[in-house]
This record gives sequence, C-alpha cells and structure tokens, in this order.
Amino acid sequence: MKNQKVYRRRGPRRNMALPLILALVLVAGVAIALVSCNVQPAPEEPAAPSGSQQEAPESSSAQEEPKVPQQSQSEETPEEEPVEESSQSQQQTHEAPVTELESDGEEIAIPASLAGADHLFPAGNGDYRLILVNKEYTMPNEISDLPLKNIGDGYRVQADMYDALVKMMDDAKAAGLPLYIVSGYRPIERSRVLYENKVQEYLNAGYSAEEAAVQAGMWIAPPGTSEHSTGLAVDLISADYYTKLPDLLPEFEEFEEAKWMKEHCAEYGFILRFPKGKEDITKVVFEPWHFRYVGVEAATAIMEQGITLEEYLGVA
Ligand SMILES: [Zn+2]
Repeated sequence: MKNQKVYRRRGPRRNMALPLILALVLVAGVAIALVSCNVQPAPEEPAAPSGSQQEAPESSSAQEEPKVPQQSQSEETPEEEPVEESSQSQQQTHEAPVTELESDGEEIAIPASLAGADHLFPAGNGDYRLILVNKEYTMPNEISDLPLKNIGDGYRVQADMYDALVKMMDDAKAAGLPLYIVSGYRPIERSRVLYENKVQEYLNAGYSAEEAAVQAGMWIAPPGTSEHSTGLAVDLISADYYTKLPDLLPEFEEFEEAKWMKEHCAEYGFILRFPKGKEDITKVVFEPWHFRYVGVEAATAIMEQGITLEEYLGVA
C-alpha cells in the first residue's frame, strides 16, 4: 500500500516537472527583458563622441531624424498648462523672490576656476548652488576643479549634491518609483558636439544658418549655456521609461515618477528647472526630467512659488 501511494505521488510530480521548468524559463525571460529595457539608455552614452563620461543630450533629440525637430519645436511648448502650474504662476507674480535669497548655511564654495565669472552669480551671495547658467549667462570656461562623483551608469555629478540625489532616488524607489539617470555632468566641449550636430540637422532640413541655430538651441543648450556643465543638473526618468516612450518627451509629466519628483524634489534641494509655461523665461522647452540642485531653502521657495531660477535670482 505504501509503495503504491509513493508511486502515485511520484507520477503527478513528474508530470509537473516540465511545466514548472517552462514557467521558470518564462519568468527568467521576462525578468531579463525587463532588465534590458531598464538598461536601454546606457548604450547611448558610450556613443558620445568626445569621451567616456558623457551624457544624453538635453532632450536626447540629437539622434533624431532631421525632420523630427521641425514638428516638435514650438508646438510642443505652448500646449495646455496644467491647472496646478498656472495657479502657481499666478501666485508667483506677487512674490518678491529676491527676499528669499538667504543661505541655509550649507553653501558650496565657488570653484576657483570660476574666478572672474561673477555674472554667473547674479544673486551675489557666493553660493555656488545658485550659479545661473543659461543662454544669457554663459560659462566662459570649463570648471576645471569641479569636484565630481560617479553615479548611475557612468554619470558624474557635483560631489556636494551627490548625497541629495542618492537620497531622492532611494526614497523614490522606496515609494515604488525607481528612477534612472540619463544625464549628469556634461563638459562644455561635449555640449559643443551635441549642439553642432543639432544645428546640422536643421541645416539639412533646409533652415537658414540663423534659424537653425535658434531652433537647435531650443533642444540642445549651446556650449557654455548648459547647466549640465556645472555638475549641478541631472536628467532623471523612470526606470522603465524606454519601454513606454521612445525619447525624452514632455509626456513624461504624466508618469507617476515625474509627478513624484515634481512634488518632492524640493525636499532634497532640487528644482524642476524648465517648467511648462515658463519657456519664455528659460528659453528651453518643458523638460519634466531635468532637475537642478540649488539647496533645500532655495528649492523650497522656487517650487512653492512655481517660479524659475531666473525669477528667484531676480534676473527674469
Ligand atoms: Zn538636462
């Protein structure tokens, strides 16, 4: 009797073995597929022409077809404004941003190689975290003594903002929203390559030299005008971003990760640097993935008022 029972038990188990193995193989396959999707942005990086540590372009459109930018440009920007943002903007006009300019006691020393670049600190308070780099306030030279730390898949960021970034990413992950870095520090020379490639796309598409420069500048910051070159900017997307969207697009704002970052970034000292509806001030398209480190105090003021760094510094 016992033997029979054993025999009977064995039978079904053997029959179960094959389906079990198949199921395991399937699960492993799906896992591998997911992982490879998450890692998808990485290959873009080694393709960077000018070095090892380079990032994706500001809106990663450098690899696009020449025709794509034509349709994307300005149409993308002035679209519907979220209720949240417009109410913030109204709020902001009644504020006096400059009065908010006080250090929270943790400012980062200005790198010595920025000596003489006083125009980059219009607030005049010597806090490197409040450096302003845009199309008007350009960086003359590379910051040669910028302390950098490695993070993510081969990216680098300013050492003093590293901890804040790690914390924000950890907390996002704990909230079930793992983030992925697609751009960090970008040397000026790297910006030059990306920008010139973009200009060429517009030239190829029949734009005049002048117009090509303007249009390209909406997507790729011209050399010396990208705050990625300060080491204080980072482009963050969801870990599964590229399974949903083919490129960095404003639609990312609808992702839970983007919503979480917009809501919580200031707690870590980051701001959404190029908000929707502020393109006339930033001269950059809405970039729900681009975050800039300015320290908790400034970030809180900026995000609460729904203003830009330019407005906060009183130079808008
Ligand atoms: Zn960026």
